[in-house]
Amino acid sequence: MITINKIYVNGEFVTPHGEEVMDLISPTTNEKVGEVTLGDEIDTQNAALVAKEALKSFKNTTKEERIKYLEKVRDILIKRKQDFTDIMVNEYGGTVYFCSFVAQNAIDDFNAMIDTLKEFDLNPKEGTSQIQLVPVGVVGIIIPWNMSNGFICTKLSTAIAAGCTVVVKPSELSVQQTQFISEVFHEAGLPKGVINFVNGYGNTVGVEITRNADIDKISFTGSTAVGKLIAKGAVDTMKRVTLELGGKSPNIILDDANFSEALPTAVYSAFLNSGQACAAATRLLVPKSRLDEANAILKNFIETNVKVGDPSNPDTLIGPMVSQKQFDRVEEYIKIGIEEGATLLVGGHGKPTGLEAGNYVKPTIFTNVDNHMRIAQEEIFGPVLVVIPYEDENDAIRIANDSPYGLAAYISAGDKERAYRIASKLDAGRVCVNGLSHDSKAPFGGFKQSGIGREYGRFGLEEYLEARAVLG
Ligand code: NAD
Repeated sequence: MITINKIYVNGEFVTPHGEEVMDLISPTTNEKVGEVTLGDEIDTQNAALVAKEALKSFKNTTKEERIKYLEKVRDILIKRKQDFTDIMVNEYGGTVYFCSFVAQNAIDDFNAMIDTLKEFDLNPKEGTSQIQLVPVGVVGIIIPWNMSNGFICTKLSTAIAAGCTVVVKPSELSVQQTQFISEVFHEAGLPKGVINFVNGYGNTVGVEITRNADIDKISFTGSTAVGKLIAKGAVDTMKRVTLELGGKSPNIILDDANFSEALPTAVYSAFLNSGQACAAATRLLVPKSRLDEANAILKNFIETNVKVGDPSNPDTLIGPMVSQKQFDRVEEYIKIGIEEGATLLVGGHGKPTGLEAGNYVKPTIFTNVDNHMRIAQEEIFGPVLVVIPYEDENDAIRIANDSPYGLAAYISAGDKERAYRIASKLDAGRVCVNGLSHDSKAPFGGFKQSGIGREYGRFGLEEYLEARAVLG
């Protein structure tokens, strides 16, 4: 049995003031595997106080000192890359295929931020004035369960580069991953109080981070609903906010694309992280004239190539949903899709045979979907893909933008120049042309209700800085 009964505050693993004990449940078996003692408001207040104290000296560190800390964390992540992956796989059922990519990405984040900081001018001139870009202060970092340590590494590499101190509240579903990443930062030997982790629920620790006057900024990744609550609460103390929220990203397959390559890639892009990914390409737009052909390729690909099951098997593409609650949510949307009259192409209700013990969902594709259906407008966060036919290029752009979200978009085309022209018309923070790609220096964030602000590289660093202009 796993027992987690400490939080990481002021450079030490300490017993929390909070006493609530939560069971840890395996998503692959639904059996209890351990217990965690959760932190509370008092723990959050203590962490904010020590972060505020640590800021007094950490904000004055030089670029060179910050780069040394970033290199130290990066080197420990390289050494412990396998642990990083294994804990993700075990705790929330992420596939080893996906989790090893996240572990490498975390290392890349630190490398990218080291490069960014080296090139970044913290004292630029504007007009006749000298500008000082200074740390924004203590940052409250609130994280979802679906890629916990990946997000923590993106945000903490940036916070360290900027000279900020942090209080991190990961999801209560990620406490094993949090234990691991706290050990990594502890080993890196950052000054006491610079990095603090408090386990706990959103309505206790999360709410306290939002209202606490010692915290100057919130960087949040999670649902749009909770993002709105945080933005409303943060304004009382005029905290800066960066919000990375939900998505329902379109994937436009143009008529000149190679369907036999683009459609399998579309399935990978939709079912990324077992479909539990904010940037998953969950709305597949195909030319109406080739809908039957697309349906046949998709159905065949799912039935012959998409393996659901044990997440530690390298061939598995889809593992269990993180919790029974998430399983129920996905099942509910499958029911809604059927009721709305969408055509079920493959998958549907119920667990795959032999996988009844875990939170496994059948990979599901609805076709001939109208973009106004709930399954096309709302984030499902599971392996459910909707295929929407379009008439022509302008119709595809119209449908792609007809969404409250605007996190990412995807285009597959034979003619890349045509894809770039279409990309410039899409309301999305990132547009991937011909496949799924990532760039640890390019800005990431949402248009519309997918968020406020950007992460990664220069754009991400600016979000952790305040500008002071010295004139005269
Ligand atoms: P969630 O919004 O329910 O929870 C996210 C975090 O917020 C958790 O740590 C939770 O405990 C905390 N929280 C809950 N209520 C709170 C409150 N009132 N005040 C402060 N904190 C509170 O999201 P989730 O279910 O953990 O994750 C899935 C969601 O995250 C999806 O909507 C997904 O699209 C989104 N997401 C976005 C990105 C992105 O980069 N844009 C990345 C991953 C996930």
